[in-house]
Amino acid sequence: MKKSLKLSFITSAIFLMSVTITNAQTGGVNFSMQVQEIQIQKNDEANPCITAREYELIENRCAANIILLNINKRQKRQLSTTSLNWPLKTAPGFTDCSYYFIGAYVDQNSASGVFKDWNCGTRSYDGHGGTDIGIWPFPFNKVDSNSVKVIAAAAGTIIDKHDGEFDRNCVGVGSGLKANYLIIQHADGSLALYWHMKKNSITSKTIGQTVVVGEQIGVVASSGSSSGPHLHFEVWAGSTASTRIDPYYGSCNLLNASSWWTSQKPASEPAILKASVHITDYIPKPCPKSDTTNESTFYALPFNGPGMPTDYAKFFVFLRDVSSGTSVDMKILNPNGTTYNSWNYTFTGTFNVCYAGWSKHLPIVPGVCTFQATYNGVTCSQNFTISTNTGISGYYNLTDVVIYPNPATDNLIIETHQKAKIEILNTAGQIIKAIHTAEKQIRIDISDLSCGVYLIKVKTDKGIAVKEFIKE
Ligand SMILES: [Zn+2]
Repeated sequence: MKKSLKLSFITSAIFLMSVTITNAQTGGVNFSMQVQEIQIQKNDEANPCITAREYELIENRCAANIILLNINKRQKRQLSTTSLNWPLKTAPGFTDCSYYFIGAYVDQNSASGVFKDWNCGTRSYDGHGGTDIGIWPFPFNKVDSNSVKVIAAAAGTIIDKHDGEFDRNCVGVGSGLKANYLIIQHADGSLALYWHMKKNSITSKTIGQTVVVGEQIGVVASSGSSSGPHLHFEVWAGSTASTRIDPYYGSCNLLNASSWWTSQKPASEPAILKASVHITDYIPKPCPKSDTTNESTFYALPFNGPGMPTDYAKFFVFLRDVSSGTSVDMKILNPNGTTYNSWNYTFTGTFNVCYAGWSKHLPIVPGVCTFQATYNGVTCSQNFTISTNTGISGYYNLTDVVIYPNPATDNLIIETHQKAKIEILNTAGQIIKAIHTAEKQIRIDISDLSCGVYLIKVKTDKGIAVKEFIKE
C-alpha cells in the first residue's frame, strides 16, 4: 500500500510552506518517510529587517555618539581596510555539522519592486540592506539553548547598542518593534550593524568601549522586525545608510569593487547541517515555538518509540541549498564499523532548507553505532548507543541539556539550566556517580573514570535525558 499526500498552505503572502509526506507500508512493517521543503519565514519588502524609521533613528544616534566619543576617523570608502570574519559561531558542546543558511543578501537593484543579489540571483528582497543568516534546524530551540553566538566580524568601537526587547517575533510583526542590536565602528570609519539578537544577550560593554574580532556580542534570536531567528548583518562604508556596501563581491555587486570578507563563502553551499537519530517523528512547530525534536543518542533494546514498531528509530537529515536531482547517501554502521543498513534518496525539488527522515531498524549489537549521511561529497555523522541490558526506560530528549566536551578527559561540563539529578552510568547500566545540582552549569570531575563509553542520565522536572559521552 502506498499513500501519497501533498498539502500546500499559503497562510500569508510571505509564508509559504509546502509539505509532502509519503508513507509506504510493506509486509506489515511500517516504514514511513518524510521529505519536506521548509520555506522558512523570511522578512520581505512589507516587513523589512530594519524599518525606514529605525534607519533614521540609528543614523542620528550614531552621528551623536561619534561626536560625543570624539571619534574622528577619516572615512576611506574607496580604501577600506576592514576585513570581515564570519559573524557567527556555535556554543561549546554544539556537535551538528553546520547551523546556518542564507535567507537574503543585500538588494543590489535600486529600482522599486525588483531585487537582485550580488551573484545576479534573487536571494534578497526589495530594499534589503544586509545579509540575513538564518539558523537551522530547530531555530527556536537554538535560541533557547544559546547555541549560536553573534561575534564581532571585525574589531572596533561600540557606537550604539540596545537591549531588553522581546525576542520571539514572527513574520508580519509590523513596524514599531525594537530590535536588540549593536553597531560597531571599525578603524577605517566603516560600520557593522548586528540586528535581531536575543533579549539580554548583548555584550555588557558600553557605547565607546572596544571589541576585538571574534568577541561574543550577542545571541541569534528574533527581536525587532524579524520573521524568525536570524542575524541581519549590515555594513556601511561610512556612518549613514547611503554608504551601504555588500560584503560579498560578484558580478552584480554595484556597491563596492571587492569582497569585504576575509574569506568569502560561495553563493550556494549545499550541505547536510545535521544527521540525527530520533525516537519518533520530529515535530516542527510554527514560529515562535520551539520544535519537538524527539532526538536521542541512546536506545535500550527492546525499544518502542511512540507510534513506531519495536526496535525502530527515525533517521533524519537536515540540509541547505539542495537542488533537484541531487542525492544523499545514508548508512547505519555497527559498533565495529561494518554497514548495518544503507539507502539513498534523490531530491525532486530545489530547497533553501529541507529535511528528510526514514524509519529504520536499529542495529542489534550493543555499543556505539553511527548514522552517517553524505551529500555533495561531505559526510555528516551522529553516534548513538545501543544497549541491551541497562534497564533504562521512559526517557525523553531534552535539547536544553548540553554536555561537553565530548570526548572528555578530566572534566565534563553539563548545562541543565534547572534543578537536576545527574547520574553517570557504564554501558551495563551501573551507576558510577550521582550528583544533585541546582546550578545552571555543573563541572564533574571524571579523571578517575577508565577510558570508554559512558551514559549520562539527567533527570529534571521536564523529563529524563540520556546521552552518551566518551572518556579518553
Ligand atoms: Zn535582513
